[in-house]
Amino acid sequence: MTVVLKVENLSKHFGGLRAVNGVTFDVARGELKALIGPNGAGKSTCFNMLMGQLKPSAGRVSLNGEDITGKPPRDIWRRGVGRTFQITGTYQSMTVAENVQMALISHHRKIFAIRPFAHKLYRDEALALLEIVGMADQADRACAILAYGDLKRLELAIALANNPTLLLMDEPTAGMAPKERERLMQLTADIVRDRNISVLFTEHDMDVVFAHAHHIMVLNRGELIADGTAAEVRNNAQVQEVYLGG
Ligand code: ADP
Ligand code: MG
Repeated sequence: MTVVLKVENLSKHFGGLRAVNGVTFDVARGELKALIGPNGAGKSTCFNMLMGQLKPSAGRVSLNGEDITGKPPRDIWRRGVGRTFQITGTYQSMTVAENVQMALISHHRKIFAIRPFAHKLYRDEALALLEIVGMADQADRACAILAYGDLKRLELAIALANNPTLLLMDEPTAGMAPKERERLMQLTADIVRDRNISVLFTEHDMDVVFAHAHHIMVLNRGELIADGTAAEVRNNAQVQEVYLGG
């Protein structure tokens, strides 16, 4: 097993609040791993530290053996950590393909691209990524008119444009109908398998988590209380207490 992400004793304290407190875990190559836990458990705080948006109060994060603790988001992104961005503002006025092309330009030039750019640049590569997420037939539509589920799959294609080794997805299915949610998670699982990348995600829908995640971690009040297979987590007494109230 190759460890891609190693997190050791990671903590984030906001004043007296221990939002994340001494969290330790690994993510392996080719692993689809879920981080679950009640609202306010510290999941997003954890993700924000992994992506460089928040500096940890303590602890260490390493990627492929290299210490990335406290590095800015751009450095972490350059090292192959992807995340699903929400498409907003000017990007809404661009087509589906143009959004992916822009992400490809950013990846190949190692800078965040801005408009304008040559219309054909990375067009074929963009179409190939759209094919993977089932959006090739919508390549020339404006993002503004996309259905919500389609927009989410486009965000996944944009994240893949950076050819990530690790993809971080904080509530990727938020606001989606159950059928679309299942489709996005199945797609994510297929991508993990086909490209041998690692994905760490959070998700509220337990059916989706238990159906697709290879391993599940449970965070409660900033502390990791379980890390194992679906069966192990389901049978964990502490997890049952948190989810069923005893
Ligand atoms: P989750 O994503 O699991 O719902 P969060 O990581 O968003 O949980 O929040 C964990 C705790 O940290 C919550 O009590 C939240 O109110 C608090 N928190 C999150 N961000 C900040 C911040 N920037 N300043 C102060 N408290 C914060
Ligand atoms: Mg959250």
